[in-house]
Amino acid sequence: MRVAIAGGGLAGLSCAKYLVDLGHQPILLERSEILGGLVAAWKDKDGDWIETGLHNFFGAYPNMLQLMAELNILDRLQWKRHALIFNQPEKPGVLSWFDVPNIPAPFNIITSILRNNDMLTWNQKVRFAIGLIPAIVRGDKYVVSMDKYTFTEWLAMHGIGEDISTDVFIAVCKSLKFIDPDVISATIPLRALNKFLQQKDGSRIAYLDGAPPERLCQPIADYVIDRGGEVHTGASLKQIVVGADGNVEKLIIRGLDDAPDQEIFADAYVSAMSVDAIKNYLPIAWATMPYFQQLDQLEGVPVISVQIWFDRKLTNIDHTLFSRSPLLSVYSDMSNSCKEYADPDKSMLELVVAPAAEWIDRSNAEIIEATLNELAKLFPNHLPTPAKVLKSYVVKTPRSIYTAIPGREQFRPSQTTPIANFFLSGSYTSQPFFGSMEGAVLSGKLTAQEIHKANQNASQSSGNKVLGRTSNQNQSNSSVVTA
Ligand SMILES: Cc1cc2nc3c(=O)[nH]c(=O)nc-3n(C[C@H](O)[C@H](O)[C@H](O)COP(=O)(O)OP(=O)(O)OC[C@H]3O[C@@H](n4cnc5c(N)ncnc54)[C@H](O)[C@@H]3O)c2cc1C
Repeated sequence: MRVAIAGGGLAGLSCAKYLVDLGHQPILLERSEILGGLVAAWKDKDGDWIETGLHNFFGAYPNMLQLMAELNILDRLQWKRHALIFNQPEKPGVLSWFDVPNIPAPFNIITSILRNNDMLTWNQKVRFAIGLIPAIVRGDKYVVSMDKYTFTEWLAMHGIGEDISTDVFIAVCKSLKFIDPDVISATIPLRALNKFLQQKDGSRIAYLDGAPPERLCQPIADYVIDRGGEVHTGASLKQIVVGADGNVEKLIIRGLDDAPDQEIFADAYVSAMSVDAIKNYLPIAWATMPYFQQLDQLEGVPVISVQIWFDRKLTNIDHTLFSRSPLLSVYSDMSNSCKEYADPDKSMLELVVAPAAEWIDRSNAEIIEATLNELAKLFPNHLPTPAKVLKSYVVKTPRSIYTAIPGREQFRPSQTTPIANFFLSGSYTSQPFFGSMEGAVLSGKLTAQEIHKANQNASQSSGNKVLGRTSNQNQSNSSVVTA
């Protein structure tokens, strides 16, 4: 069966990979010249990588780890010491470590929290532990039921003071979804904690050993192409055309550089674009369907990535750091953390600016200046002097992962839609890993499985029909037709 997929981020790539595994032929169409979407990266004139954002992998990412194992690239993950590290703004240059001991879960996480006295009082630790009991005992049902509250409201309900939110969870919420605890759905940090508490290495962080398009996306594309699939970059969806039977008849792909548009015919069609992008292409005939109307309730959150190259080493820490600064979320010295970016003499900091709503329209110069001012508090021995900035980049993503505010869970769509031959994929679709790389990979796999199932059901019930196409159309060997 031929399946046209619009969107070559991790969801679209994963969908294509699992479709070939199920014996189908995906045709992946990515608008950009680079695969990866939110994990995309490109080189500057010096050959240095500029990334869309700092990406951490976790032990609690079963589908990503399985995918990488299946591609034989699991050794590209560089696992870090099992710890979470926080800056202490009130003690410039001093770090607070939550070291996770090598004992079974959940005792490893509990021990790491109990042992850290920098950021939590004993009263806070006890209250927080009691608050977590329903999440541990009742599991995901409880976690999802908390989607009506912000995390700040959840903390208040459990008698946990404001400080804990300011001190620890402001950093955690910003790192998880680029928004603050008084905005984020309580479900998000609770589910993350729940996953970390279930698995010994769940909270352990790994870095890819180089830029995601080359080290992760290309192997997926190669796997797909080697098995008869197609991967096209610079192929931008222009229109989803609906046929008389209500199913998708074809996709129109925008012609580049005055070239004519192209038509893509397939048996099934997938949008693996972001939720903000697919809304622009929904056919008018679908506008009144509640399934598609719910997408209006989801919207990408702004985030900014900053990379700064310095003339010397600022730190030797090989890990992610939670800045606990109002402007910044997490950051890392990639010259220590990523093999391909290694430099023994000079630091390259990659930082996430979040929440970014206030900053997204400001100039790059303003963002860099504000970032350096915050960094001066974290690296007082080096900044503002004597360290010098060699170069810097700002990458703005005005609409990234869906904004995980309370009440959104009910609007996250299933991978199947009311249209028999049309499916959705993407980290915003319904799956337990929210807007993350793991969520994207899992959603792609679920979409591939749903397409396979729908095809089996369709061929069992009518014999001569495969999803939306008649057997005559199926015999056509021309998938791409100039319009
Ligand atoms: C700064 C930042 C840091 C992050 N850090 C982490 C992290 O540490 N850990 C983690 O797990 N996750 C992290 N994430 C989230 C993670 O990157 C995303 O959840 C995941 O990559 C989303 O994948 P996706 O395929 O669902 O969507 P996308 O990556 O958005 O892919 C959608 C694709 O559709 C394409 N497209 C759009 N319109 C069209 C069109 N008309 N025709 C064809 N193609 C089209 C886009 O170009 C894009 O390639 C981070 C994200 C950002 C922005």
